[in-house]
Amino acid sequence: MHVYLDNAATTKVLPEVIEAMIPYYTEYYGNPSSFHSFARDAHKGLDDARRTVAKCLNAANPSEIYFTGGGSEGDNMILRGVVQAYRKKGNHVITSKIEHHAILHTLQELEDKGLITVTYLDVDENGLVDPEAVKAAIRPETILVTIMTANNEVGTIEPVKEIGAVCREAGVLFHTDAVQAVGHIPVDVQDMNIDLLTLTAHKFHGPKGVGAVYIKKGVRVPAMITGGGQENKKRAGTENVPGIVGLAKALEIQTANLEANMRKMTALRDKLIAGVEERIKTVHLNGHRTQRLPNNVNFGIRYIESESILLMLDLQGVAASSGSACTSGSLDPSHVLLAMGISHEEANGSLRMTLSEFTTEEEIDYVLEILPPIVQRLRDMSPIYPKGGEE
Ligand SMILES: *Cc1c(COP(=O)(O)O)cnc(C)c1O
Repeated sequence: MHVYLDNAATTKVLPEVIEAMIPYYTEYYGNPSSFHSFARDAHKGLDDARRTVAKCLNAANPSEIYFTGGGSEGDNMILRGVVQAYRKKGNHVITSKIEHHAILHTLQELEDKGLITVTYLDVDENGLVDPEAVKAAIRPETILVTIMTANNEVGTIEPVKEIGAVCREAGVLFHTDAVQAVGHIPVDVQDMNIDLLTLTAHKFHGPKGVGAVYIKKGVRVPAMITGGGQENKKRAGTENVPGIVGLAKALEIQTANLEANMRKMTALRDKLIAGVEERIKTVHLNGHRTQRLPNNVNFGIRYIESESILLMLDLQGVAASSGSACTSGSLDPSHVLLAMGISHEEANGSLRMTLSEFTTEEEIDYVLEILPPIVQRLRDMSPIYPKGGEE
């Protein structure tokens, strides 16, 4: 068996998406900025894609969608842009301790340069940000609140609509990194009081290296990449037309199938969670049990190291993760798990398994068959495992 359970890191591209992209490499390959029929065809691809993305997010106007080179770029563009454009209004930004590094490292750099001060909000043991804590942290000089829609490691879905309402009331801009949410759960920028949003195609079965940001009309985000006048002067560079067309196609398909996919994955997710809890002792489900992405399972497995489990799972054909792809390879425990109050020891034994709509029940059964003996073997070798059974 070959089982892919690392869909929070990236997903496979849908065949329909590849099919939609190909003509933009082979036929409509003109530069959209040129003046001829090849350019017009390419430009139409861009316009259609922008309209599709706007519709899927319920943006008021397609002109509020700007294409980027992915999620990290989108987060950078918005944070750096807002800090620059609103520096006369203030220099305070509010975020949470469990954001993606594209947010945290960018804010850290802006802070180190002396451009902003940042409030890093705590989360509860389930990884939830409290809208009241956001409200309490807002100061007269606050220009931006950035809280992710759903966490990439533990799958907790944040009360974004409530946080957005708090920001609206206080007249503070609200950005959400919706990279793990778009195409996975309903995201409606108007209903959820969102001013700025980041998404990336490769997390919902689109191509890698292409993303989009939603910038509500009237919000100022100057260009980070300067040069040509593409993307309404907000992002220079010849557009990745095939990638953008693929992004829109993937989002269109995932939006049309959203309810069915959510139902299917939630059932498999809950089967996997229940199966692990039944078969393995001393495990802890990381993240909120119900307010959780339909595709996310993350367990703390005490007395062993993530790397050893991942290695042995991989030997048996199962691709999983310890959490964020960016932190694996380093020995630092996850900042997300630590912020949730989980001990270093338990954070070192985290196992994230993220499903897609292509995940089958047979695959889940297979994982439930091979995982318990792997854990037992590693625990038997672990110097910290209480011998003769569980405590
Ligand atoms: C994957 C991810 C990103 C980064 O997106 P890229 O397209 O890989 O740059 C940002 N935020 C979150 C929450 C993610 O999961």
